[in-house]
Amino acid sequence: MPDRVLAVLTAPETGGEAAEPFRFADPAAPLLNVLDLGATRGDGVFETIGVGSGRAQALDPHLARLARSAAMLDMPEPDGSAWRAAVVAVAERLAEHREAFVKLVYTRGVEGTDHPTGWVLGAPSPDNSGPRANGVRVVVLDRGLPHDGVGELPWLLQGAKTLSYAVNMAALREAKRRGADDALFVSSDGFLLEGPTSNLLIKQGDRLITPSTSLGILAGTTQAEAFRFARSRGMTTSYEVLPKDALESAEALWLLSSVRNAAPIRAIDGVERAIDAEFTAALNAHLLARRD
Ligand code: PLP
Repeated sequence: MPDRVLAVLTAPETGGEAAEPFRFADPAAPLLNVLDLGATRGDGVFETIGVGSGRAQALDPHLARLARSAAMLDMPEPDGSAWRAAVVAVAERLAEHREAFVKLVYTRGVEGTDHPTGWVLGAPSPDNSGPRANGVRVVVLDRGLPHDGVGELPWLLQGAKTLSYAVNMAALREAKRRGADDALFVSSDGFLLEGPTSNLLIKQGDRLITPSTSLGILAGTTQAEAFRFARSRGMTTSYEVLPKDALESAEALWLLSSVRNAAPIRAIDGVERAIDAEFTAALNAHLLARRD
């Protein structure tokens, strides 16, 4: 059973002229040029996609978001069919793992060449049964930007999935320092945003709510699927601008992301919260069963 599988895109923006748009490579061998702008400046975009028994989940929405993120960085449009072929091939090699993931990385390329770099790395997922069943403890952290007006600051790349995740990783370390598992960002004026690697989902009776993407947060593929699932059960769904107080009145809350799926929030800033075990289990069963 392979543990890590790597496909390198021949020409990630055009598919290239080679017969194959990608080639498999040894993930343990040196590969990246030290002048690659993805490494030296975090200049590029990425996607992480769940893989269930060899099938990439929500592949179309992830490829569409890769293209949207690239456009926000003025990068050439990624060749969707080349990326799709690479993802499908890597995912297939992980078919013996019930849960795996692939990470797509698309960088601006080696400085001075104008040729983007792209690869797809697949691996088995870590065991997420603990967070899914028992929940995660979350601390609320200020992201330092107001909730409105991010649309007028496009150079801040809010809502793009860029390789510049050092701030997000620092937020996770801060959460650990405070004895929690994860973080939830709020705007400087106190509105709910997203986690460093997840979207927030709130349940209020028969209604599911998530913060609006107008706040400069990532449009989540897992969140979109959670909304579809909820509507299929007769619930209503909405995108809203929510003050931090909405956390207190929420009946149940989750952090949603590909691979971990729905992690119920069991404590916020040290205050315990009730978990909706039935809805969590049903939602995770639905998300895990996806094979598209
Ligand atoms: N928000 C941020 C900042 C993320 O990095 C992620 C995923 O890593 C998400 C939200 C959740 O997105 P998705 O459900 O498409 O994985």
